[in-house]
Amino acid sequence: TSPLRIAIVGHGNLGRGVEAALLKTADAELVGIYTRRDPAAVTPVTPGARVRPLDALESDADGIDVAICCGGSRSDLPEQTPAIARFLPVVDSFDTHARIPEHFERVDAAARAGGNVALISAGWDPGLFSINRLYGEALLPDGDTYTFWGRGLSQGHSDAIRRVPGVAAGVQYTHPVPAAVDAVRSGARPTLTTREKHTRECFVVLEPGADGAAVREAIVTMPDYFADYDTTVTFVDADELARNHAGMPHGGFVIRAAETSAGTRQVVEYSLRLESNPELTAAVLVASARAVARLQARGETGAVTLLDVPPALLSPRSAADLRRDLL
Ligand code: NAP
Repeated sequence: TSPLRIAIVGHGNLGRGVEAALLKTADAELVGIYTRRDPAAVTPVTPGARVRPLDALESDADGIDVAICCGGSRSDLPEQTPAIARFLPVVDSFDTHARIPEHFERVDAAARAGGNVALISAGWDPGLFSINRLYGEALLPDGDTYTFWGRGLSQGHSDAIRRVPGVAAGVQYTHPVPAAVDAVRSGARPTLTTREKHTRECFVVLEPGADGAAVREAIVTMPDYFADYDTTVTFVDADELARNHAGMPHGGFVIRAAETSAGTRQVVEYSLRLESNPELTAAVLVASARAVARLQARGETGAVTLLDVPPALLSPRSAADLRRDLL
């Protein structure tokens, strides 16, 4: 069978991650990177990759099996994913949890109108973590599900720090609190507050002449982002920030702690430790594109999420091979 022909839409961290994932995927190939910017301004990772204006995606659609939409959740995906679903099968990683139902409805209507399958909110959270939350609840009804994130770089919180007056640059890491993780792993099913579950650690480069004490106070008291957490702020210079804080690590655990009969504790855990959040997210998007192509070939249409996809459809291997080797 011929390789799956993939288009990347939007070339940021995730778009570059999809390139990296495709370089390790035998049954899929990159046919083009589509961008809103001048294609000459975009430098692909893949030798010889074609970069095209986003406007050309629809006229190129005959040569594409699945578009992987790599835009931002805030303003790109709500617009791009439904627009593309009208003429191509599509995958995205929309991660604004509270708005997923609304995004699903819009993409579903567009995908049905276009006769396409659209898989939204793939990645690790939402995505792999969601699947594991579902297994936990379905298998162990008398239980509690806990999600811990980190150690990880949070884009949203790093952006929030950079908007504080006096801050030239900065990053924010989220850490799970070890005592809370241990308590959950013990099966004790503790009730934990936001502050008890995670801490936040900031590395900040000050603007010349800025008042460090005032910057620290503005960060640790910031509502929604930091006020509900124990937050530390460490001032570093630009060189140290570039040297030690340029990566995008992330990860975390989903834990279901339950009882299957009186006094019989069961603890099920799924864990990720990622040196690159976008590269792992992109790897999930590429496997999801394979599933989308198969659902499309079965004649299905409309929006789905990873919760709706049979796991075997993610694998390049046949169902018979999977039964023999993995079951
Ligand atoms: P990003 O780097 O900011 O890229 C977003 C878009 O911005 C790109 O598609 C690109 O579109 C444009 N862009 C990138 N670099 C640019 C530059 N130098 N100048 C101007 N425009 C530029 O965002 P990202 O880190 O790839 O993340 C994308 C989304 O992935 C996030 O919003 C998040 O929702 C999602 N995500 C999901 C998960 C999950 O587990 N589900 C995990 C991580 C991330 P054009 O090429 O069209 O300009």
